[in-house]
Amino acid sequence: MASTNTFVDGKPTNIETRLFINGEFVESSDKKTFSIYTPSTNELVAEDSSLRGHCSGHQHSSGYRQRSAASMGCIVPTQRAAPLKKLAALLRQNKDEFAYLEAVCMGRPVGGYIDNIIAANKFESFAEAGYTGKGVSSLNTPGFVNMTLRQPFGVVAAIIPWNVPLVSLAGKVAPALITGNTVVLKSSEKAPLTSLKLAQLSIEAGFPPGVLNILSGHGHISGATLSAHMDVRAISFTGSGRAGSMIQTAAAQSNMKNVILELGGKSPAVIFDDADLESAAAKTANSIQWNSGQVCMANSRIYVQDTIAERFLELFNVAFSSIHQGNPLNPATNHGPQADKVQFETVQRYIALGKESGTLALGGAAKDGFIEPTVFTNVAQDAKIMQEEIFGPVVNICIFHTEEEALAKANDTEYGLYAAVFTKDINRAMRFAKGLEAGTVGVNCTSPVTGHDLSFGGWKSSGVGREGLLESINAFLEHKSVLIQIE
Ligand code: NAD
Repeated sequence: MASTNTFVDGKPTNIETRLFINGEFVESSDKKTFSIYTPSTNELVAEDSSLRGHCSGHQHSSGYRQRSAASMGCIVPTQRAAPLKKLAALLRQNKDEFAYLEAVCMGRPVGGYIDNIIAANKFESFAEAGYTGKGVSSLNTPGFVNMTLRQPFGVVAAIIPWNVPLVSLAGKVAPALITGNTVVLKSSEKAPLTSLKLAQLSIEAGFPPGVLNILSGHGHISGATLSAHMDVRAISFTGSGRAGSMIQTAAAQSNMKNVILELGGKSPAVIFDDADLESAAAKTANSIQWNSGQVCMANSRIYVQDTIAERFLELFNVAFSSIHQGNPLNPATNHGPQADKVQFETVQRYIALGKESGTLALGGAAKDGFIEPTVFTNVAQDAKIMQEEIFGPVVNICIFHTEEEALAKANDTEYGLYAAVFTKDINRAMRFAKGLEAGTVGVNCTSPVTGHDLSFGGWKSSGVGREGLLESINAFLEHKSVLIQIE
């Protein structure tokens, strides 16, 4: 099958929906399928109204054992890197199709779509980093020359969410492959098509058959099978705390596989009166508006110093409501619908709760899958909308009086993924950089800004382990200590 689709009347003609196993697209073993509906119109995602994604059952989750040793595991990193680099180039070339597929599956606007570039950058960076996957030697034990070996696990699994599918995929598949493992990735049932498009491109890129396998399917069936699978020795998951907890339990109850969990957030941003207010308002508004607020690290709680609260709210509301909401396939749109009916209804429930527990300062309306950018003020710290992840364009803006109060409130959450502080006082910035309980802290910047070569992950209930250039290479390699006694 050709990897590059042809567009006819604005739609790709050749959308792959089957499972990708051992280098081939196959139907599910039980022939079961599931339907994908476009969020704003609820139409089946296909021109001929017959497109259904295949879902993986138990048989398809097995049979990958030790394939890596015969393919990627026994060759040098530069050889493993070659198909990864080629895939990166193909990712860049196929932007329109990736953007289209994400738009129709989960409502991401095609205008400003850059996930294929981010994914390409990740494949290229990990391709270059292959030689960092190695152990150390030690002469610290008299009479011995000791060393550690770092070796691939064999079969590793990855489970990804729907909100940034291609970026999540690249952050797991690229390090797993460059370290010589075989990967079985399960995409989200809400957005499986870009993963399958990447699978098509992997053939053209020259991936050895079987090193990359892509399953579609629901979490409680195919995701649960992978989490409990006895041949899978490490699993990297991005998604909700609810599913993460089940995966960790399944991992512990099966074969104690290594687990990396990238989970949700309720990220705070603290704005002091010496900050550049226009910039802070624009950056914090973008953080909670981008991807219709469906971002793990979105700053959904903003704490503003009392002296500038009124001015900040004015600036913020202008920035937050300056959107082009509409059809995600229209290049002028920058605010799409929520990903599906479930997300749409969940966000509306939180807005109803917000109206009971605070003051509605902007928006609040919801129609046909779209949620207006919504701001609440005067919400108590222990209110549900202050403590729980909403995953929509809904933000609480609260006033603080002292630095100590701001830090305590920012940290008063079970989550710890990302936090931000806006101030020109370097000492205060460093006090917050140290004091904020989060895996990433932005100073005069906020999410989705991240460091390309730094670790990413959560404190507290936002996760276990880290992803990142060196961290992910490390995570996909087993350790072995070799002790050599010298005669
Ligand atoms: P989700 O947990 O519902 O689903 C994520 C994936 O897990 C899907 O592929 C799903 O099929 C699978 N899954 C669900 N139940 C499972 C089970 N019992 N066993 C195995 N797999 C299972 O999350 P979602 O709605 O797709 O994504 C939104 C969540 O992801 C939010 O909480 C968001 O904060 C989080 N997220 C975190 C990061 C991060 O880097 N920390 C990035 C993106 C999204």
